[in-house]
Order: sequence, then structure tokens, then C-alpha cells
Amino acid sequence: MQVIERIPAGTACCWLLRGETGSVLIDTGMRNAGQILRQVQDANVRLILLTHAHFDHIKNAAFLAQELKVPVALHPADLPLLEHQSARPLNAQGVRGQMLRYFSQKLMQKPLEPFSPEILLSDGMRLNAYGVDAQVIELPGHTAGSTGVIAGEAIVVGDALMRMPALSPPLIFEDRKSCLESVSRIRESGAKIVLTSHGFTIRRRFFV
Ligand SMILES: [Zn+2]
Ligand SMILES: [Zn+2]
Repeated sequence: MQVIERIPAGTACCWLLRGETGSVLIDTGMRNAGQILRQVQDANVRLILLTHAHFDHIKNAAFLAQELKVPVALHPADLPLLEHQSARPLNAQGVRGQMLRYFSQKLMQKPLEPFSPEILLSDGMRLNAYGVDAQVIELPGHTAGSTGVIAGEAIVVGDALMRMPALSPPLIFEDRKSCLESVSRIRESGAKIVLTSHGFTIRRRFFV
């Protein structure tokens, strides 16, 4: 039995996947770094996995990797975003999407403490080496290097879906067509519990 816990971290939350012999921290958020560190201190975190390289998911990555002394994993297609958050165009759907893009781009101009992902994610990569029974799924579209994590009946999808408040494809993205294909991949994964980074969930702990 594994547990996935929601950890608030600013606009995007983190998910902590607790396995038999270790844990994986999925995303790092952009606020509450000290609080996140305290919340995961007992979890034997062995890897920080970033679902993609947007500011609101990676701001705390350098600090947490250093404090926890663990490697960071990211899909190689998102490496350019670590250099420049505006390395690729961000497109928006509708008026709400344009507002979201406006605020996102403001955030993206803030300085980012640099870090280098030591592990490059790919589709189907198993995470057993880090103490959890889970695997990576590529979910490109929101960014080219967006990924999710499948663990038991749950899938952590990063920003490949958002709760706004209904579960829907993101309103900001690099490629809309790939976004919709990734939604199909999520559906085809057969996962019964879909965990997003943005939006409200009543439960904060899931047994998977
Ligand atoms: Zn986000
Ligand atoms: Zn994002």
C-alpha cells in the first residue's frame, strides 16, 4: 500500500508519493519551502521529480534538493525552460487563458535559483529504484517535456489537466493538439484517481 499526500506550495501544490522503502516528491511549488521541508522530513525522500519546468512547480527545487540531498528528475525537453522560462512560446485559450498567461509570465520573470537535473525522465521509466512502485508517463502539450506519474490507481498529471473547478485541459500551453492527445493518454492509463497541481481537492491523502 502506498500513500500520496497533497502538500500546499503556492499556486501549484506538491504531491508526496510514499512507497515501501522511500518517497518521491513530485514538484516543489514556489512558496513555503521551509514548511514543505518539515512535512517531508520523515518520509525518506529519495528523488524530486518535476512534472515540468514552469516556475510555479520548480521554484523550490534547488533549496529542497540541497536540503534533502537528493537528485532532481526532469524530462529533457523541458531543460531549455530552466535557462529561460520564455524559451518557448506560451499560448492561451480564451479570455481566462489570456489572464492566466499574463500572471504566469509575470511570475516567470522572477529570478530562479539554478539547479541541474541529474535524472532525465522518459516514458515508462520505473521509479522503483527510489523506493516507490510507480512509473513515468509522458504528457506533452502544456510544455513539450510535461510528464505524469502513475502509482497504483492514481495518476499525478502536473498541469496536463487542471481543476478549474471541473477537470479540464490547461488554458495555457505550448501545443494544444498535444495537450488533447495527452488527455487521451491519461484516460487510457485507466487511473481512477487524477491528481492535479492546480485546483482544490477535499482529500489530502490518497491510498493507492
Ligand atoms: Zn502550474
Ligand atoms: Zn505549468
